Amino acid sequence: MKKLFIIANWKSNKTIEEAEQWFHDFAEKLKSDSSNIENKEIIVCPSFILFEHARYCSNNLKLPIRFGAQNISPFDKGAYTGEVNGEQIKEFAQYVIIGHSERRKNFSETNEMLKQKVLMAKKYNLMPIFCIQNQDSPVPQEIDVIAYEPPTAIGTGNPDTPENAQRVAKIVKERTGVANVLYGGSVTSSNVKTFTNMPDIDGLLVGGASLDSLEFLAIIKNA
Ligand code: PEP
Repeated sequence: MKKLFIIANWKSNKTIEEAEQWFHDFAEKLKSDSSNIENKEIIVCPSFILFEHARYCSNNLKLPIRFGAQNISPFDKGAYTGEVNGEQIKEFAQYVIIGHSERRKNFSETNEMLKQKVLMAKKYNLMPIFCIQNQDSPVPQEIDVIAYEPPTAIGTGNPDTPENAQRVAKIVKERTGVANVLYGGSVTSSNVKTFTNMPDIDGLLVGGASLDSLEFLAIIKNA
């Protein structure tokens, strides 16, 4: 049975209080039924300001959750106002999302900059979840996990078809040699299984639907 990565990308959402509620609701529901979570790497990617309290909640509630950052500075520590560097992220997270289409579009992240971000992640032993928009998107060296996310499917309620996501995942694996390809774009608890049934889809990157802890748990269980 393949191991699935199930990743919650909270984007720029939630106050500390809302995050705390999310973890409590998730834990309550999981306590009443903890079936179907084995063989799944559950990763939550909150905003940086939420990390400390999110980790506190997760540890306290003994949740089987790991953390990821949504971004990383392309620079090491130093005079880079507003940036959060790899050494700082490493204190809270094991993963980092790099190359999300919202960052490429809204923050002008270039392929060159993304390569630098991957180098920084690697330097601090953070595993990059590298996002690509189509089968031809460039992928830097030494990536272990790719997320295929067609921009037309992100936040629109219009997911790619599982058949096309499978086709792209297979091509990307052959082209890059990367072993794990995830799908992202309007995944819900109702359509998740149609993606994870596909032989070359190794998990999911979930945005909007991950903001509701019960829906996210249902995605994990149905995957
Ligand atoms: C995402 O932001 O990576 C994403 C897949 O969002 P959504 O699930 O809301 O489409």
